[in-house]
Amino acid sequence: MASTIEAIKAKLDIADEISSVVALQKSGKALKGLCPFHNERTPSFYVYRESQSWHCFGCNEGGDIFSFVEKQQNLDFHEALLYLAEKADVPVEEYSSGSTEDARETSVAREHLRKMNEDAMLWFHQMLLRSKDAEDAREYVKSRGISADSVITFGLGYASDQWDRLSRYLVGQGYTEQEIVDGGLARWRENNTLGGERRGGIYDYFRNRLIFPIRDTRGHVIAFGGRALGDSKPKYLNSPQTLLFEKSSVLYALDMARDAIKQVGQVIIVEGYVDALIAHQYGTRQTVACIGSAITEKHIQQLKKLTKQVTLALDPDAAGNAATEQGIEEALKGFDRTVVPVPIGGTVSSGRAQGKRGNRQRVQQPIVRLEEQVDAEINVLQLPEGEDPDEVIQRDFSSWLYAVAHPLPLIDYFFVAKTADLNLREPMGKAEAARRLLPIIAMVSDRIKRDAYMRKLATKIHIDERSLRDELQKVLSRHKMSGINVDFSGKTNARQLEQRKESEVRKEAGTAEVAASQSIQLEIGEGKNEKSQSIAELDSTERSRLKWEDYLIGLLLQNPDLRPHVCGIIDEGDFAGTDTRELYHILNSIYQRDSSPSHQSFEQFVPSALLPTVARGLQYVESRSFENGEMLVKEAVQCATRLKRMRLLQLNTEIKFLLDQATESGDKTATRHFQLQILDISRQLRTINTATHLQG
Ligand SMILES: [Zn+2]
Repeated sequence: MASTIEAIKAKLDIADEISSVVALQKSGKALKGLCPFHNERTPSFYVYRESQSWHCFGCNEGGDIFSFVEKQQNLDFHEALLYLAEKADVPVEEYSSGSTEDARETSVAREHLRKMNEDAMLWFHQMLLRSKDAEDAREYVKSRGISADSVITFGLGYASDQWDRLSRYLVGQGYTEQEIVDGGLARWRENNTLGGERRGGIYDYFRNRLIFPIRDTRGHVIAFGGRALGDSKPKYLNSPQTLLFEKSSVLYALDMARDAIKQVGQVIIVEGYVDALIAHQYGTRQTVACIGSAITEKHIQQLKKLTKQVTLALDPDAAGNAATEQGIEEALKGFDRTVVPVPIGGTVSSGRAQGKRGNRQRVQQPIVRLEEQVDAEINVLQLPEGEDPDEVIQRDFSSWLYAVAHPLPLIDYFFVAKTADLNLREPMGKAEAARRLLPIIAMVSDRIKRDAYMRKLATKIHIDERSLRDELQKVLSRHKMSGINVDFSGKTNARQLEQRKESEVRKEAGTAEVAASQSIQLEIGEGKNEKSQSIAELDSTERSRLKWEDYLIGLLLQNPDLRPHVCGIIDEGDFAGTDTRELYHILNSIYQRDSSPSHQSFEQFVPSALLPTVARGLQYVESRSFENGEMLVKEAVQCATRLKRMRLLQLNTEIKFLLDQATESGDKTATRHFQLQILDISRQLRTINTATHLQG
C-alpha cells in the first residue's frame, strides 16, 4: 500500500499548487517565476514538473509540494498534510500513538473537548457582555484600557462568582461531569468517592475571573486563562493540562500574531495576557504572551519558523535571576544552528614556506573546525523601570515603538543585569564581574563581536584587556561545548591527498558517477526474510537516495546521540523524501543535546503518516551491528556526507542547465550568478571530499 504522502503526491501536481500563488512561465523543461520567499525582480524560482520539485536559486530554498505549502502558508508538516490530503481527497489517520482503536477514541475525545471549549468560551463571553454580575468585570476591562473591539476580537469573558453556573450550563448542553472535569472546566467536590461512586458533584474551575480564551495556531480554543477580579489567589489561573492543552508549548495570541510576526520579522514575547492584548490593540501585532512563566524550547520551535528575531519583554525585577536566564538558554537551544567553518590557529605556523605550494604542509594540521552558531537574534526590550508593557503603550506609544525597534542585544543586557549588584571599583567586584561575564562572551561566536565585548568588559572593570584575554581562552577551552568538531587531521600523505582531492573535485563537479563509486561497504537488510543487498550495488538514483535517507533516519532514531555529528553536514533541505525530511526535522526539534530518550517517546511526536518510514529506517539499522560507538559515528557521518554529496551534485546539474540557458539568452547578470553558484557548489564538494578522505 502506498503511503499517505505518496498517495497525496500522486493526486496533486506541484505546478498547479504553486501557480495558484506564483505566476509561472515556461522555461525549457521547467517553469519559472518570481520567488515568493525573497524579493527579486528577475525570476530565479523554478518548478520542475518531472521531479515534482521546486528550487529558488536566489535564496536557495527548495523542496517538494509539502515544503512549499509549509513555507508559503506557514504551516507545520502535520497541518500541511491535512491541507493537501483534503485537496487530494486522501484520508489521513490523525493520531499516531497506540493502536488505531485508541487513536480513534482519542480523536473523538479531542473533537468533543474542542466543542466544549467553544461552548464554554461563548458562555463566558455572553456573561461578560450581558450579565448583571459582570459589572465589576466590565469596569476592570475599561480600567485596563481594553477596547470593546478587543473584547470581541479576543473573545474575553467572565466567569461568575457562583459555584457551578458554567458546569450546570454544560451539563444542560449534554456534556457529562467527567468530561467537564477532564476538560479542565470543573473540579470534583471533596469526598467524591463513596463506594467507588462519585457523589459530590462538580464545581467550576474558574470563578469570579476575567477570562482570556487561549487558542492554538489554527484558532481553536484549547484552554482559558482567568484573571482574578477580587482578592482571590492566584491572581492568574490557567486551565490545567488537558488532551488539548499543554501549557509549556502554547503562546497566547500567536494565532493572531502570526502574519504580523512574519511581516515585521520580529516577535515580542511579553508576560501577561493584557500586555499582549493591548500591544495588538495599538497595532504592534507581532506580540505574544507566555502562558505560565518560562519560555520553553517548544515555544521557540513554533516561533522560529516565522522569524529569527525574538525580543523579550522581561520583567526588570527578574533581571539576572536564574529563571530568566534559564528561559533565555531555552530560547537559544530551540533555535537552529548554522555550522560555519572556523580556521584554526596552527595552520599558519606549519606552512612556513608559503606560496602556492605551501598548503601541502597545512593539511597535517587541522585546518578547519566547524562551529555551531545559533541562527537567531535574541534581544531584550528596554522599558522604563517598574512599568509593564501595557502601561507604556497607553501612556506613551511612541516610546514603546522606539523600544520595539531598538531592543538591547542579549549580551549587552547581561552586561547590565549581571553586574548590577557588584561594586566594580573593588577588586572583588571586578573579579566577580569577569567571572560572570566571560562565559557569556565566550558564547559569542563572531570573533569581531567577541573582541568588541572583550574591550567593553575591560573598560567596564578597568582591567587590562590582555589579561582578560587569557582568562577567556581558559573559558573557551573549557567550553569546547557545542562544537561539532570534525577532525580534519589525518595521516594521509599530504601530497597524495592534494592530488586526489583536486582530480576528485573536477570529476565530482562534472558528473554524478563518482558518488556511486565512493561506496561505503555496508549492507542493508531489505526486510526480514529477504536477502540483504549490498549498498555498493545501489546506484545514485533517486531510489537509492531515499534508501540512504531511510537508513540515516534509522541510525538517528536508534542513536539520538549521533545527531550532533550529522547536523553539521546535512540539513532538512538536503532530504529528497518528504517523510525523511519531516522526521529529520522532528528529531532535531525534540532531542536536546544532552538527553537521549528512547524512540518510543519519539513516536508520540510523529504523525501516523510517517510511521511506516520510522519502521523502515529501524529495520535497516537492526540488521547491522557496530563494533563500537566510534564506528557508529563514522557510519552516520559517512551516510550524511554521501547524501549531502548527492544533493550537491543534483543542484550542480540543475544550475548547469540554467547557466546554459542564461548564456544563450545573453543574460549577463544571471550567467554570473549561476557561475558563482557552481563555484560555491564545487567548494562545498571539495570540503566534503577532504573530510571523507581524511576520515579514511
Ligand atoms: Zn527565493
